[in-house]
Amino acid sequence: MSPAWRREKDRAQTTDSAVVRYLADRSDWVVRADCDDCGGYELNLQVGDPTQEELARARASAFITRVHEAGCLGCHARAWRTRPAPPSDQPHVWWDTGSGEWMAWKPLPGSDTGISLPLGIKTFWAPQEVRAAARALWSSERLPLHVAADRDDVDPDDTAIFYDVGSGRWHLHSACFDCGGFELRLTSFGRGAVEAACDEALTCLELVAKEGCPNCRSVRERTAVKGSEDEPRIWFDTEASDWLVWQGIDGADGGVTLPLGIGRFDTRRTVVYRAAAGLLFDSELFLDEGA
Ligand SMILES: [Zn+2]
Ligand SMILES: [Zn+2]
Repeated sequence: MSPAWRREKDRAQTTDSAVVRYLADRSDWVVRADCDDCGGYELNLQVGDPTQEELARARASAFITRVHEAGCLGCHARAWRTRPAPPSDQPHVWWDTGSGEWMAWKPLPGSDTGISLPLGIKTFWAPQEVRAAARALWSSERLPLHVAADRDDVDPDDTAIFYDVGSGRWHLHSACFDCGGFELRLTSFGRGAVEAACDEALTCLELVAKEGCPNCRSVRERTAVKGSEDEPRIWFDTEASDWLVWQGIDGADGGVTLPLGIGRFDTRRTVVYRAAAGLLFDSELFLDEGA
């Protein structure tokens, strides 16, 4: 067994090969990858803390030896930008050294070369997110779903999932031209559950496409003037993150709104309606008894 000081020294020698520097305007450490063919490129190391030089160097060193020396990502990106379509129908992802984000290639009808689209992931070290995002891009023709590394990377007109560190859950942001979009908290727990979150988000988006925007519906229901004679209403309220039931009642300002305690938007509709029917039936019994 080698003494601790020797291991320290060996490690220092390996990390010495990577030259890192902190860029205040990017709030990140970056490493320079040299290449005689393409001129080289810089890579953000996703180490936000300016005092964490040690971590930045370790990450940079791993990147240079395991990734860059195995095949220059700058040359790779240049090839993707200039060459015709790859010979297969399989999804391809590549790291764009110019824009610093993951791209996914897919065939484009009427085009010989296909098209590469940004996945919205600006972290190089996000293999699971990249895989899931590429899969989402390929599986959804009408509703492209992005996987973003952070809420800040989601534009209002993006439909994307992102990991919310505070709640430990994935969230879906769905764009809507009418209400400006909304957020749904998904049940998939932990950053590693990105593929499950993707599946859950795609199910939600199918329901949105079929039933209309639940946020527009929530706004309509909250502001609607309803009378005691109106039929009961059931909707998923995007603010309460719960299914709500409204029921007309004489003398109670026209009616009452009750939560069903079902937090998932993609809960099977039969389950929701059964719960709502139970609640409506129980409250009618209660009202009958009171009368
Ligand atoms: Zn190169
Ligand atoms: Zn809407």
